[in-house]
Amino acid sequence: MNILVINCGSSSLKFQMINSETEQCIAKGLCERIGIEGSMITYAPAGGEKEKTVTPMPDHTEAIRLVLEALTNEKTGVVKSLDEIGAVGHRIVHGGEKFAESTIITDEVMAAIEECNDLAPLHNPANLIGINACKKLMPGTPMVGVFDTAFHQTMPEEAYMYGLPYEYYKNYKIRRYGFHGTSHSYVSKRAAELLGRKYEDLKIIVCHLGNGASVSAVKNGKCVDTSMGLTPLEGLIMGTRCGDIDPAIIEFLAHKEGKNIDEIMSVLNKKSGVLGLSDNLSSDFRDLEAGYEKNDPNAIRTLKTYCYRVAKYIGAYAAAMNGVDAICFTAGIGENGPLVRTLVCGYLGYLGVTLDEEANQKKGEEVVISTSDSTTTVLAVPTNEELAIARETVRLVK
Ligand code: AMP
Repeated sequence: MNILVINCGSSSLKFQMINSETEQCIAKGLCERIGIEGSMITYAPAGGEKEKTVTPMPDHTEAIRLVLEALTNEKTGVVKSLDEIGAVGHRIVHGGEKFAESTIITDEVMAAIEECNDLAPLHNPANLIGINACKKLMPGTPMVGVFDTAFHQTMPEEAYMYGLPYEYYKNYKIRRYGFHGTSHSYVSKRAAELLGRKYEDLKIIVCHLGNGASVSAVKNGKCVDTSMGLTPLEGLIMGTRCGDIDPAIIEFLAHKEGKNIDEIMSVLNKKSGVLGLSDNLSSDFRDLEAGYEKNDPNAIRTLKTYCYRVAKYIGAYAAAMNGVDAICFTAGIGENGPLVRTLVCGYLGYLGVTLDEEANQKKGEEVVISTSDSTTTVLAVPTNEELAIARETVRLVK
């Protein structure tokens, strides 16, 4: 069965068509600047040329129409008609406490997703627009929602509650939710397979280090803690997001800089993280690594602080699980950043971690990067959120 995986943002839309039997991606692409002048679609069939077309996309329905046209195009398409698309899997950012699992999308489910809009005002409305556009253009094709928060719903109360007045939880559901759940779930399961061990017997820490970044603790196949919170701003230092800070800094900065709450939040989301910490050197780790090799103090400070924070979370989660069997690095930096992995693992001697320097040089591969006598196994495992969404979609529609 061909599964169309859609990841719909406010002005962009990523898509992949996956054959569920072979689990191969047969085409993928991206629509950018939806609703903005200069919109364009990038489309690439597997093994074929990537083509970029600048064309008006006033809304998401038009973007999805163009995606379907590309997929069924006589010359470069991968299916003859829309009938060959068995189901659509939608990535949905926030499922609140309502969704602990993926689900077939019905009118009731859409209403429940809408009720979570408050918790992810930038993302959930865009996800719903994507679902509506698909409903319009592919009526009758089953659709599944796969939630970024669902995998973390197994966290115990002590991990998800904040030290705030309890009424805020009761009234507004303010608590830790966590994100990147599809990735944490996929990578932790894959690590168990690679180790030839039962998922339910393992204590695994997953470090998803991409532009957004989070760590999770997975004990006996269930997530027991994760570093992102009510929103994706908490936890690790990220590309441009600050991660954990003293909340009083917000008031302090507001007074010092005369900024209102929206302006401060924009700084914390868009101008902080490794970009801000490196004095605007870059949010891209390739630039930071190059700077580190050249002894640039901005790059050195940034990478040391970034890796120290990751190591602190690993320590916290080893404590939370009373031990750890495997530590996984994934996403852009985790999969491709030997320097970051080396700096983080430098703190993990107490867990019996010894890095295999040669294996650690590999990029973008599934590889054990610790030595065979390392007490805790360290792995790099490329994440594949689209495949995980396609698998969930097939599981529910079959
Ligand atoms: P993601 O959000 O998972 O796509 O990760 C994006 C980030 O991964 C980029 O901002 C880069 O900093 C980082 N990245 C991607 N490729 C490499 C690489 N070859 N070496 C180091 N960092 C990389």
